[in-house]
Amino acid sequence: MIRNFIAGEWRASTANQFFPVLNPATAEPLGQTPISPASEVDEAVNSAHSAYERWRRVPVGDRVQVLHKLKARLESDLEDLARTITVECGKTLAESRGELRRAIENVEVAAGMPMLMQGNFSEDIASGIDEFSIRQPLGVCAIIAPFNFPGMIPFWFLPYAIACGNGVVVKPSERVPLTMQKVFTLLTECGLPADVVNLLNGDRHTSELLISHPLVRAVSFVGSSAGARAVYALAGAHGKRVQCQGGAKNPIVVLPDADIDNATPVIADSAFGCAGQRCLAASMAILVGDARKGFGDSLRQAAAQRTTGNGLDEVQMGPVISPESRNRILSLVDRAVSDGARLTVDGRYPQIAGGELGNFIRPTILEGLPLASDVTRTEIFGPVLSLHEVDTVDEAIALVNTGSYGNMACLFTRSGDAARKFRSEAEVGNVGINVGVAAPMAFFPFSGARESFFGDLHGQGRDAVRFFTQEKVVVERWPKDWTRQF
Ligand code: NAD
Repeated sequence: MIRNFIAGEWRASTANQFFPVLNPATAEPLGQTPISPASEVDEAVNSAHSAYERWRRVPVGDRVQVLHKLKARLESDLEDLARTITVECGKTLAESRGELRRAIENVEVAAGMPMLMQGNFSEDIASGIDEFSIRQPLGVCAIIAPFNFPGMIPFWFLPYAIACGNGVVVKPSERVPLTMQKVFTLLTECGLPADVVNLLNGDRHTSELLISHPLVRAVSFVGSSAGARAVYALAGAHGKRVQCQGGAKNPIVVLPDADIDNATPVIADSAFGCAGQRCLAASMAILVGDARKGFGDSLRQAAAQRTTGNGLDEVQMGPVISPESRNRILSLVDRAVSDGARLTVDGRYPQIAGGELGNFIRPTILEGLPLASDVTRTEIFGPVLSLHEVDTVDEAIALVNTGSYGNMACLFTRSGDAARKFRSEAEVGNVGINVGVAAPMAFFPFSGARESFFGDLHGQGRDAVRFFTQEKVVVERWPKDWTRQF
């Protein structure tokens, strides 16, 4: 049963609506996500708030001891957690393990909170007057996560929010609720006062109740751009601090001097890893000048050779999340073809032994897709790569900057000069140079720009510390004759 964790205990929801959770590789039912009603949102927020009043007074050096224990528990349970991610989300076991490593990395960084949340001090800003700043926790922080990284994405926020002294409510995606059930069990074994973190299951309506709850101070959202925009507006209307990471349409530019042998597997992995369901997945390869000669062939070959199947087996790619998602991807591919694209690798209707009921699509390559087609600018979020040809780096950069998203852009080249120009002019939050998935380490912000991000401070690293604390400035004078007794 999928339960909520509220006020330090596992509770069956009183919901009368449920979302069916199915294994994307087999369609086996895994559970029913309760769509928690307003009363449970209220209980979760109240629990986090009363816990915060006590937790904020625990010294930060003691607070981070919980994170040291949590890291050890995540390490010891890594295989079990990875299996859960694969079963509910579909990605391969290797990808699930990689996702968890990224989660653990955030716990490690947040464990440095005693230094990270230090303030600043200036003595004698005027005669006898000192000024300093301190960072204090906010209160209740809500974390709303997407389906594609059930283990990692809550960790872009959760360890920082806890270490800064906040109370937390996590709402996982209704499509993948199982991983957080396990993570919360571990959290309760790490010495954290159990009501500091609360797990609330539900859908967008549950999120909306959470965001507009008067005791919620801050909202961290990751999901589609439509969701990000809506959450940004709702949170803003209710006066909340908010950070919303949205969708993506990531281009990879290949210059003629790029090393084909090294770049091809990296680009193929970017496009088809996690079945293309990564916000840092390459979805357009822009081949410049003579790069079109070699790279087209090598990418087609890499796509056609990628093994696809149940992520628990020895395969390189799993299914997409749901039949609806698969149908949406197929209809976008059909639209591309009717707009003039050629399907040079067609993975639409694969035969996967034992996967007859799964949501499988094999790697698919589109060529000759007109730039005027909507599909060029639409996030497909599946294993589909379109190849485009231009003559110059300037044209490639113009194409990178044409779309509305700005999550990631990558360049493959041996030219330092071209790389400098690209990293300066690409209007995106994360840039990769000879790297296919420019995923920032936990000590950097997970950036994003334009329609891929709404807000100011991002998840991870110092941005997360600033997001989960309020900076207070104190100007202090102690006249001599008040205190000098000697
Ligand atoms: P989604 O927007 O459908 O849902 C994300 C979460 O928000 C879920 O928990 C859902 O219940 C909730 N939700 C959905 N609509 C909402 C609304 N209007 N108001 C409040 N809550 C709402 O996203 P998804 O399909 O689960 O995830 C895939 C999307 O997430 C893709 O677009 C992908 O690019 C994006 N993504 C972005 C990043 C990033 O860092 N920029 C990372 C991972 C995924």
